[in-house]
Amino acid sequence: MRADKKTRVLAVSNQKGGVGKTTTAINLGTALAAIGERVLIVDMDPQGNASTGLGVPRETRRVTIYDVIVDGRSVDDSAVPTTVPGLSIIPADADMSGVEIELSQADRRSFRLRDALQSQGRDGQPRYDYVLIDCPPSLNLLTLNAMAAADAVLVPLQCEFFALEGLTQLMKTVDMVRQSLNPALEIQGLVLTMYDRRSALSGQVANDVRAHFGEKVYDSVIPRNVRVAEAPSFGKPALIYDLKCAGSQAYLRLAREVVAREKKRRFQAAA
Ligand code: ADP
Ligand code: MG
Repeated sequence: MRADKKTRVLAVSNQKGGVGKTTTAINLGTALAAIGERVLIVDMDPQGNASTGLGVPRETRRVTIYDVIVDGRSVDDSAVPTTVPGLSIIPADADMSGVEIELSQADRRSFRLRDALQSQGRDGQPRYDYVLIDCPPSLNLLTLNAMAAADAVLVPLQCEFFALEGLTQLMKTVDMVRQSLNPALEIQGLVLTMYDRRSALSGQVANDVRAHFGEKVYDSVIPRNVRVAEAPSFGKPALIYDLKCAGSQAYLRLAREVVAREKKRRFQAAA
């Protein structure tokens, strides 16, 4: 029995595209599963890249997150296992792009995902330790559903010049969500991605971000790594494609940090 253990829902979010959200959802999810956590990835991006990268081809996506958000299908009936033990996914497809219109008159339109996630599991025992939501880059109803459902946001930041600019946007969104949909929303942490140790700019951005956000920035930094970039074209997480590569090892370290932060948080909440 793990009665004290509730599912933690983390929205992997940043309003900039191409910063490593999907790569982080896939590989952090895999790394968490590798260290024994039960993980569900919710693909909320109509591009469906997390689904593809986890080896769920488009033609097999009979049930998607659309069915959950629009038709009220249960999370337990919609999650499919991946090739990674302990890791399931609710896939996405292009049909998601119509959600905004479909839900324009719906009740609790921003809480559809939260309501669905709250009824996952059986007999009061949740089925997952972690739910990672791979968010789309735009601020739309899907992102709002993700942030309304989340306990905390995990922010990937690409080590490049405009990194902080996208972040200002995201922080505004988080504040707005706290004031309206989800007062308890926290920032789990910020992870620097695509770090190039030979580039002065990467180092400078990393320093700036740490100066600004202090301990919220994870110690683990994800390096730019060709194996990480190649893995999705094989429908595999980097940790399965090449466990030894620097990128996979960095995601494993990140997973341990995420779990350590959660343990500390639970301890403090109980104190
Ligand atoms: P987002 O979901 O924020 O749009 P992605 O995770 O799709 O970003 O990443 C954008 C691109 O950068 C993809 O082509 C991906 O393969 C590549 N990429 C992400 N992280 C790394 C990394 N650590 N090393 C090399 N390439 C990466
Ligand atoms: Mg993405």
